[in-house]
Amino acid sequence: MRVLIAGAAGFLGSHLTDAILNEGHEVIGVDNLCTGSLENLKHLKAEPRFEFCEHDICTSFDPKHVDYVFNFASPASPADYMRLGIETLMVGSAGTRHLLETAKKYGAKFLHASTSECYGDPDQHPQTEEYWGHVNPIGPRSVYDESKRFSEALVTAYRRYEQVDARLVRIFNTYGPRLQLNDGRVISNFLSQALRGDDLTIYGDGSQTRSFCYVSDEIEGILQLSRSDEHTPVNIGNPTEWTILECAKAVLGVTGSKSKIVLRPLPQDDPSQRQPDISKAKRLLNWEPKIDLETGLKLSLGYFRSCIEAAGKSHQEHSQIGIVYMGIRS
Ligand code: NAD
Ligand code: UDP
Repeated sequence: MRVLIAGAAGFLGSHLTDAILNEGHEVIGVDNLCTGSLENLKHLKAEPRFEFCEHDICTSFDPKHVDYVFNFASPASPADYMRLGIETLMVGSAGTRHLLETAKKYGAKFLHASTSECYGDPDQHPQTEEYWGHVNPIGPRSVYDESKRFSEALVTAYRRYEQVDARLVRIFNTYGPRLQLNDGRVISNFLSQALRGDDLTIYGDGSQTRSFCYVSDEIEGILQLSRSDEHTPVNIGNPTEWTILECAKAVLGVTGSKSKIVLRPLPQDDPSQRQPDISKAKRLLNWEPKIDLETGLKLSLGYFRSCIEAAGKSHQEHSQIGIVYMGIRS
């Protein structure tokens, strides 16, 4: 197959690219690098079955014939999507539409990366796919939540009216190597703070919950869904629920760090609980995650250590030539 992956330079998109190449297919990766990094694809420089195209999917383009389209392009970390609010709304609307038009033109299958954010701050727990959600349409998270909900409606409409063979995965918090060190997500923050000996910043009192899925489990679930004929949304995530305080303690345990835990204000509309009901994925795809949080954190340590070293070196180099260091993304 010739496979188009939008968002290929991002955390999940780059792992998906590796997985699809490993299956023997060709991949065209498209990304505008607004939150991703070419570092995530540098190991593919000499791979003849991989082609990279720097492009914003909000403007149309023709990749020529493709058999499958995966849409993973969108800022995903709250810090990123709040900084890139309008861009986030556009990529989930105009961007998704361009990719659906591409799939329609070439008769390609389609899989869209949706999110647990479609459930907002849920008043049903755990969240099943039937739950319609509890979303503030004008709050600070709305640029992401409504972009993703619009994408789900658009994908469903292209299936209903245009017969595009489309799938929707609702991804719950996923972590692992290739998360950007400074993307502000909880696992990136806690691991980099612990490894640097800085304070771990808990927003609120740490009683809010999330359910963390290691990246290899998430990608395996997405691949299973991509091969299936299920067209309604499917939750793919790890159902083990952690308070954020427990998560901070797990990071301190795995790193052996002596960092302190400090409390910071809770951002507006921060969901108080998140836990996927994965019965549908188990039943339809025979999928469930295998890697628990401690194991996944250990598997991520080497990557975060090398990012911190590289950031340190870059800091020194920049200081030597008198450039003000503002933080790096890779
Ligand atoms: P990421 O920021 O690492 O990757 C997103 C990629 O999309 C980046 O490389 C970025 O440069 C690219 N991109 C953004 N706008 C674009 C545009 N207009 N044109 C082309 N490329 C564009 O984030 P991620 O965690 O890898 O998330 C990937 C997808 O999975 C996103 O759609 C996200 O909403 C979804 N998702 C992720 C998680 C998670 O926990 N990681 C959870 C739920 C949903
Ligand atoms: N969080 C935190 N400290 C941090 C970063 C995040 O306490 O340094 C909290 C955040 O308020 C949220 C949870 O961790 O309750 C998960 O945040 P993240 O940004 O990873 O993703 P979200 O699930 O909110 O989209």
